[in-house]
Amino acid sequence: MAWFLNHYICERCHRRWSDEWSCMCDDDCPHCGARHMSPYDSENLTTIVVPKNNTFVVLLASGKAEHDPVYQPVAQFATHAEAEALKDALAS
Ligand SMILES: [Zn+2]
Repeated sequence: MAWFLNHYICERCHRRWSDEWSCMCDDDCPHCGARHMSPYDSENLTTIVVPKNNTFVVLLASGKAEHDPVYQPVAQFATHAEAEALKDALAS
């Protein structure tokens, strides 16, 4: 499952917000309630790297829930560079 952090600017009140979704989908403005705003930017968080006990763990969003990424570890590395390399490989 993919996981994204989407960034929005409201076309009506011009305020910004961010929200996490399983897709790059439209969202409703939390400030004025304007509907179906499209993200102007999106970060792919499907695969992330987190430090753990002097190592780096690659986590993959694998859950089926729409509102929860449910990260599961796929690999563990001694260096951050190795973990980032796998992350890039999985993301492409
Ligand atoms: Zn708004």
